[in-house]
Amino acid sequence: MQMPDEINTYCPYCRKKTKHKVKLYKKGKVRTLAEGQRKHLAKGKGYTSKIAGKVTVYKQAKHQTVVLTCTVCKKKHTKTIGSRTKKTLELKKR
Ligand SMILES: [Zn+2]
Repeated sequence: MQMPDEINTYCPYCRKKTKHKVKLYKKGKVRTLAEGQRKHLAKGKGYTSKIAGKVTVYKQAKHQTVVLTCTVCKKKHTKTIGSRTKKTLELKKR
């Protein structure tokens, strides 16, 4: 799937349609001391888990997210494009 690197879309800060620069969203580093991550790791410990160290992960939807930067106010906000897609998102340069 391809997407242009500049789009005209609504900016929630300017409250009108403006030009935006498009960048692909990248997941940040996992913080092992975060509460949710600690709970997740605790599930894989002990004899109660089926296979020690492995937690079954159910099929999750893959959301393609892009980070939009407004050219007027230079603030960032994200947008999800489609859901449950197998195709990887690419930016089309002009
Ligand atoms: Zn704006």
